[in-house]
Amino acid sequence: MVDLLGQYQKIKTEIDKAVLDVIASSAYINGPEVKSFQKELEDYLHCKHVIPCANGTDALQIAMMALKLEPGDEVITADFTYAATAEVIGLLRLTPVLVDVLPDTFTIDLDALEKAITPRTKAIVPVHLFGQCAQMERVMEIARKHNLYVIEDTAQAIGADYHFSDGTSRKAGTIGTIGCTSFFPSKNLGCYGDGGAIFTNDDELAARIRMIANHGQSVQYYHDEIGVNSRLDSLQAAVLRIKLRHLDEYASARNRAADYYDNAFSDHPAVTIPAREKSSTHVFHQYTLVLNGKDRNAMKEFLASKGVPAMIYYPVPLHLQKAYTDPRYREGDFPITERLCANVISLPMHTEMNDEQLAYITSCVLEFLNS
Ligand SMILES: *Cc1c(COP(=O)(O)O)cnc(C)c1O
Repeated sequence: MVDLLGQYQKIKTEIDKAVLDVIASSAYINGPEVKSFQKELEDYLHCKHVIPCANGTDALQIAMMALKLEPGDEVITADFTYAATAEVIGLLRLTPVLVDVLPDTFTIDLDALEKAITPRTKAIVPVHLFGQCAQMERVMEIARKHNLYVIEDTAQAIGADYHFSDGTSRKAGTIGTIGCTSFFPSKNLGCYGDGGAIFTNDDELAARIRMIANHGQSVQYYHDEIGVNSRLDSLQAAVLRIKLRHLDEYASARNRAADYYDNAFSDHPAVTIPAREKSSTHVFHQYTLVLNGKDRNAMKEFLASKGVPAMIYYPVPLHLQKAYTDPRYREGDFPITERLCANVISLPMHTEMNDEQLAYITSCVLEFLNS
């Protein structure tokens, strides 16, 4: 699905030096590499504050703690996402309110979102699924109208640009109150272990986020509130500094592969290619097809027999997961998500795909679809 080794080999000289320099410096936590990466990511995103942390799930949790959300407050998110989004809502004893997604772009359905708002709603968590932004202009309008916080889950879309109707653009994750991302190795900006970051343009909120991520202390050994321990280590920051310089080029490589797939499959009646949201660029964290009537497991097995990996993101909607069972929800409540979970299949997508690989993968997929 990804070729992290191939990607490493191309930047090996730079990476090896940076990693060895960190080891020799012995500044393993909060070293200068972390500060430099933070600054460079702030510049790249045109965002005032980047607060690195240990992973994307922590980023979401710290964001919700920083906003002082209280048990019972409702937080609306999409039913079709990675569980981390809803997990932290539940962990903090907030109430997750799920809504369906759009069938073509897989991002949150904003008509459904508006209907789900109640007097207890405090925040919206749009997920920029598979690499393109949710419809953020309208998300922000709804948030303003109902006085809600917006926490963008941009774990899959770092580097994507969102275009507003007034002609301005912003990077994914820098539009809402807070943005959260992950540097898990397979993400678009991945390190060689775990990592994450929180983005905000609000000075006061940034200070709170830093304090919470650092055991609730703003001055060492003086704890103002109960926080967590969540930090990015210097080795990961050193790797990320190098990979950040390649991020746009990586997005182009992913788009090139996506265009190739689109061309091969756009006219085929047995599949629907992923739609592109016109207000957002797409950084193709995943390239996900929706099957129309074909047996997905048979396709996955057929591809595996040809040496082509494929993955199902995600096989079970949140509302049908054992951990998120809730008397408010039952099967049939979110028909689009349920249909997608039964019919999506993601093809290999990474920065190192060459024409030979793309030709082979598409021919195997077409062979199955035509059978
Ligand atoms: C990966 C991911 C996360 C969690 O990130 P981790 O670094 O693995 O904790 C959260 N949300 C989405 C949408 C993700 O894809």
